[in-house]
Amino acid sequence: MQKSVLEKINRFTRRDFTEDELYIFSVVLCDNDVDRDYECFTDKSLEKLSELFMGKTGIFDHNPSASGQNARIFDTEIEEDLSRVTVYGGVYRCLKAKAYMVRTDENRDLISEIDAGIKKEVSISCRVGKRTCSICGCDREKTGCVHQKGKFYDGKLCYDMLSDITDAYEWSFVAVPAQVNAGVTKKFSDCRTTGFTSDRDAGAERELRREIKRLAYFTGGKTASDAVEISSRGMNFGELVNLRKSYEKLIRKSSGVRAELMPVEDKPEDSDGSAFSMK
Ligand SMILES: [Zn+2]
Repeated sequence: MQKSVLEKINRFTRRDFTEDELYIFSVVLCDNDVDRDYECFTDKSLEKLSELFMGKTGIFDHNPSASGQNARIFDTEIEEDLSRVTVYGGVYRCLKAKAYMVRTDENRDLISEIDAGIKKEVSISCRVGKRTCSICGCDREKTGCVHQKGKFYDGKLCYDMLSDITDAYEWSFVAVPAQVNAGVTKKFSDCRTTGFTSDRDAGAERELRREIKRLAYFTGGKTASDAVEISSRGMNFGELVNLRKSYEKLIRKSSGVRAELMPVEDKPEDSDGSAFSMK
């Protein structure tokens, strides 16, 4: 562990801790891509969130009241992935956080779980001040417009851009069995939820499979995402990477044809526009 890492952590602690006393891991909190609720954070929002989540505590869902089950973010950074494009054709960026836990008898099992690569989803909640329609640029709350998120207009997907972030409340961990499919429930369908990066190999493949399902969804709705899940079952990591690339190409070249392929979705749940929970 670098000295600077310890220094950063000890800014948040009542006494200085040594390396042996701490457990450190990384999580991806959110990104700038359109999620299954047809919403996305702007790049500026990511930057704001990276400030606001600094020092924030995360909770593990399976035992939130137990002591020693909290982790705290001590560093954040925005990571760019030039090999990946967002649904709207932008450079993919995500907000990555480093968090620490003080090792205790109570959290020993939890830490082993994380080390063993048991998948954890991260969900965040924050306050969103403004939602902008991607088609006409209007402020959803102030003026409103005829465009509905998730629908296509002249071949362009309508989604809400989330900005003016004023508060970040919490982040939490939700244990997820490895077999859970993306898109089964709202909670797991969120593309912003990502696992611990210490869970690299198995985690990366699951993430990739989920990403492919999501991209397929944007090209052909639920039918396409279900179909690709079945057809890609036997694929290895390299084949999956290629499959993702071809979907990304397809989306980049997307035309009005896509609109006809999109399923008629149930109206997405709308929040009241104040507290915004990314579950
Ligand atoms: Zn509009």
